[in-house]
Order: sequence, then structure tokens, then C-alpha cells
Amino acid sequence: MSGRLHLDSVEFARKGDVLRGEVALRDCERLQSALSEIGGSVQFTLRGRVGAERKPSLTLLLRGRLPLTCQRCLQAFEFKVETDREFVLMGRTDEEVDLVAEDPGTEHIPADAQLDVMEFVESELLLELPMVPLHPEGQCSLPAWMSEGEGETKGGAFGVLGAVKRNHRKE
Ligand SMILES: [Zn+2]
Repeated sequence: MSGRLHLDSVEFARKGDVLRGEVALRDCERLQSALSEIGGSVQFTLRGRVGAERKPSLTLLLRGRLPLTCQRCLQAFEFKVETDREFVLMGRTDEEVDLVAEDPGTEHIPADAQLDVMEFVESELLLELPMVPLHPEGQCSLPAWMSEGEGETKGGAFGVLGAVKRNHRKE
């Protein structure tokens, strides 16, 4: 995809638009420090709709593989991304802020007249990243007991990334 793609999120939802595309990992600067190599892409489908109580929402579907480094055996592996999340677009009224507290199962994001689609996809990919990347069960060349007691306390790039992920949700 060339250039930045922006859209009016509420307008997109009201019209029930669908946008399919691909985000190249080399364009995902925030994600790159977590990747074992900078290559490949992730497919996305963004779907707008007006749901319950006439709330506009966006559904983001992601399909792809992220090259990560297993923190147990230090070999590269492909982490499968397969998500499907709905985001209700929030206005700025108090009523809608209350709704956020009441419904923790649905994510809410501020309505954005200039939503940067690539940025949105990259932010979701950052949230998908495991805190400690590990080969799927049974595929690691080292047995699980060898890394017992390490796990989440491992610092370095992934510690920093954890902080980034938390900050992102407060925005
Ligand atoms: Zn491994």
C-alpha cells in the first residue's frame, strides 16, 4: 500500500463500507523492534456498520504471520495473527463515556474523521504480540522446563514493548 490511507470512521460505519488491504511490515515502524526480520505483510478487512442502539462501529479482521524470536530457544518462528475485533465509535458525550464502563466486552475508540488505517492496523498488531514470544506448544526445540522461572521478567526489547502497549490503550 502506498501513502497513508485516512477515512472518516463514522461515515465509513454509517455507509456500511468495507475496505480490504494489506499492510507491509516494513511500513510498521513501531512493530519492527519486536520482529525477527522485516518482511511479509498482514491482510486486513475493515468493515463498518451501525449496530445496537444505532452506534456506529468498525470491525477489524487481521490475518497474517509475524516473524518473532522464540524466547526459549532463540530461533525465529512465525506467529499466527488471526483476530476479529469490533470497535464501537465513541462521541464525546457523558452518556457514551458511561457506556464504556458498562460494557467491558466491547472496545470503544474515539470517532475519528481522519482515521489512519495503517496506524490502526499496526496498533492492533502491537496488542496481538505476546509478552514473551514462544514457539507453539510442541514445536520448540527446547523443552518447556528449561525456561521455567524466566518468563515474563525477561527485560530488553519486550519489556519496553510491554510499556508501549499499555500506553497505547490510554490514548
Ligand atoms: Zn522455541
